[in-house]
Amino acid sequence: MRIEVVLPLALPGTLTYSVPPELVPRLRLGARVVVPLATRRATGYVAAIDVPPPHGEVALRDILAVPEDVAGLPEDLLRLILEAARYYCAPPGEALRAALPRFAEKTARRVPVVRAVPARNPEGRLGPGQKRLLAALAEVGELALDEARRAHGISTASIRALAAKGRVELGERDPVDPFAPSAADPAEPVPEPNPHQQRAITAVLAAVRSGRYHGFLLHGVTASGKTEVYLRCAAETIALGRSCLVLVPEIALTPQLVGRFRARLGGAVALVHSAVGEAERRRAWSAMLAGRVRVAVGARSALFAPLSGLGLVVVDEEHDPSYKQSDRFRYHARDLAMLRAHHAGATVVLGSATPSLESWSNAHDGKLELLRLPERATPLPLPAVRVCDLRRHGARHPRHPFLSRELVEELAGTLARREQSILFLNRRGFAPTAICTSCGTFVACPSCGVALAYHRARDALLCHYCNFQRPVPAHCESCREGELDLRGLGTERIVDAVNDLFPSARVGRLDSDVAAGPSVERVLDRLRRREIDVLVGTQMVTKGHDFPAVTLVGVVRADMGLQVVDFRAAERTFQLLTQVAGRAGRGSTPGLVLLQTFLPDHYAVAAAARQDYDGFVRQELPFRRELGYPPFGRLALLRGESRDADALDAAMDSLARTLAPLAAAAHASLLGPSPAPLARLRGFHRRHLLVKAPTRKAIRTLAVRAAAWATRAARHIRLVIDIDPLHLA
Ligand code: ADP
Ligand code: ZN
Repeated sequence: MRIEVVLPLALPGTLTYSVPPELVPRLRLGARVVVPLATRRATGYVAAIDVPPPHGEVALRDILAVPEDVAGLPEDLLRLILEAARYYCAPPGEALRAALPRFAEKTARRVPVVRAVPARNPEGRLGPGQKRLLAALAEVGELALDEARRAHGISTASIRALAAKGRVELGERDPVDPFAPSAADPAEPVPEPNPHQQRAITAVLAAVRSGRYHGFLLHGVTASGKTEVYLRCAAETIALGRSCLVLVPEIALTPQLVGRFRARLGGAVALVHSAVGEAERRRAWSAMLAGRVRVAVGARSALFAPLSGLGLVVVDEEHDPSYKQSDRFRYHARDLAMLRAHHAGATVVLGSATPSLESWSNAHDGKLELLRLPERATPLPLPAVRVCDLRRHGARHPRHPFLSRELVEELAGTLARREQSILFLNRRGFAPTAICTSCGTFVACPSCGVALAYHRARDALLCHYCNFQRPVPAHCESCREGELDLRGLGTERIVDAVNDLFPSARVGRLDSDVAAGPSVERVLDRLRRREIDVLVGTQMVTKGHDFPAVTLVGVVRADMGLQVVDFRAAERTFQLLTQVAGRAGRGSTPGLVLLQTFLPDHYAVAAAARQDYDGFVRQELPFRRELGYPPFGRLALLRGESRDADALDAAMDSLARTLAPLAAAAHASLLGPSPAPLARLRGFHRRHLLVKAPTRKAIRTLAVRAAAWATRAARHIRLVIDIDPLHLA
């Protein structure tokens, strides 16, 4: 007998092997098999059984073993992986690799950290690195020792010296255990669902009980109690003997949600998280395979959790762009969650206060059933939103002109009332450009060409695309005499301004410079314990946090995201503004949101100020329809990358010529080839061709042809095929 085997390697397809008779009875789809591969052995999974011989005279090799100590993949999961690879025009091995947990990755047992200590005697001579570290710890509370050394250019010896002076504390923290409830897991009272929630719960559970696929879009305003709906539905699904998968955009940012699931569902919940230790990860994986764990909560890749008997799949904040994987296997977890539910005969619930236009359109066409939670579940209605026009004469604060007098006044009031504020600016660092005051040249990344941003915590210039870092030159390197001026705004500069205006306020910062994982949790914990008065951050602060004492949200530049060349810029801006506004007034004190902007009349800003999702959609849809963009048409982005710009131009022209006749036949259009918005990255030139077509089928035809073209293209040309691209950069 012959079988096809998929290996977690970037091979173009599956491989065919023969099976010795004694191993035949142990085979099933998804079984784990050991096979010979060239001179090595490799472990793969059975992708097809009893297949015809491959073309040509090839001597097939026998599989070596079907080990029984580790279970294979559930059959429906294996089918999902293969189908996903097909849909995204990706090698099946890449899809498999995205699905399998990275067991091989070494995770340290204990992570050494350095922590802040409340300052008693702030005097004493300190080195610049030590000062930077203390400033950083004042904001984030704790850093992994490695991170502290790297980011602040400081040796272990100087950190130890600080510890000896009692200025910092050294310690260790555990890797995350997927089952252990953390201290943050609240034993909250269980609220009685309100009538809107009850209607949603009843509808979802009827679908789960039917045992057939059904999809819902749960559109509930911020703090409408969507999580309560998920919790009740999950509990009931388990009671029915089925399992439940819960996807969240970024698990490190949502410890609270995980905590709520664990507090309510107990030991049945596994956490799928990259900070989970290796042994723990294996334990969780086998507990899921064995059916001992019936609920998995995690980010994007938790989609592939090996749960069997799936009854319910929840995708929280389904509009969030982090559901799209942006490298290697470029899948969208929300879309695959719907597919997985389909295969499993499960119910899928996509929840959001600002549904993506794709999901809105699916609800409109009846592919998803719409459930609405139009009001907050908390005592008070949605916060008041004021737009602050920065163009108005005298609007800006004289010393910190990127802040309005109005926002500074509201901050003062909020601090005086001992309530908390969040300031949102979607750009990290201190200043995005260092520009020469005499010749106007900016300091650029040598391999990406973009401006390097100044990061004060590192006292260095940093490329936000490739992480290249360098010290700030004393003079312009182009004219060799001009001074460098740090222009523009980043979160660090806002922290600075708040410290200057309100020296006694405790200011925290949350952006991707704050080391991922537990450090982020610590900042959120400090906010919850009210040890932070003002939290400054990027889109990380907009996520589903629930902090009842936050009553003021200030958006430093509401129009910032609108400068991006992307047809989704307005949608993304509307979502971010609405989500961050939703962080205010979730407790028993009313909230206020101030949107500072130079474009108060832009429809995305105006609709967010009214918190008017339907109004936004009404204004956005005609553009999309006219241009044939999603949700009205479908896209594929074909991006060529090469170190040789001329060869790349020629190759992309040839690709466009190859596709042109097919495109014409399929009523598809080809835009480009043109330089990608990020025309150079890590030394590679980037040119893209955007395929726009009315149907998925047309996209597929063109993408398959492009993939075939790529196999014949010159070796130094790489073609990335991105189906349903989210970012056109
Ligand atoms: P969402 O996910 O829609 O933003 P959450 O589920 O976080 O909202 O709920 C917001 C707050 O409202 C939480 O503190 C939650 O405990 C509370 N809540 C939810 N449902 C109810 C209810 N029926 N009655 C009272 N409080 C509720
Ligand atoms: Zn770079």
